[in-house]
Amino acid sequence: MDECYCHVWEIDSVEIEDQLLENSIFSIEVHATFTYSNSEQDDEELDLAAQIDSLETETLRRTHRLPLDRMKSNPRSTIYGILNSMYIRVERFMVDKILDCATRMLGNKHYKNRNVLRMGVDVDVMVEKLPFDVDDDSDPETIPASEAAIEGLEEVKVDNTIDCAICLDSLSSGCKGKRMPCSHVFHGNCIVNWLGISNICPTCRFELQ
Ligand SMILES: [Zn+2]
Ligand SMILES: [Zn+2]
Repeated sequence: MDECYCHVWEIDSVEIEDQLLENSIFSIEVHATFTYSNSEQDDEELDLAAQIDSLETETLRRTHRLPLDRMKSNPRSTIYGILNSMYIRVERFMVDKILDCATRMLGNKHYKNRNVLRMGVDVDVMVEKLPFDVDDDSDPETIPASEAAIEGLEEVKVDNTIDCAICLDSLSSGCKGKRMPCSHVFHGNCIVNWLGISNICPTCRFELQ
């Protein structure tokens, strides 16, 4: 149960308040639809019709406003961050699609003088259990980690090649990475940029104090 779908498109519109911005931004409107089974029984005990009957969906909608500079300098970790903050288990193809669209828009003369570049993203994911509380309206606003905590991260040499969960590229054995107290290891740059946005481990949601 982990099929997913991701659709990304340009939104060609200008709002009056766009002119008030001093720096250009990307405004990315993400709709994440989670399909899950609300049945108490094991899937295997139900026939297909009953399984389909027990499916429920829940949609999270959020608009992320990102400085253009950040999208240019750290596109992968930035995109990873916005999807992860919406409880989406991020797959590389999702990041690639959003990055493709962003790159296309940045290279398109049509958008050259825009203060706000708008993009729509639809993500459908199948999950076993809804990863958030439906009744909880509170927006999980991200808080950056303290500089001391970021500086205090342990530098480690990678023994066996692993994937960095932020940029989804590999950290090959022998190269240096940084380890969070929860023991998850990332590229140094990736985790430092990430913690500047959010103090939560992108892999296990451990909170760095
Ligand atoms: Zn990385
Ligand atoms: Zn972790």
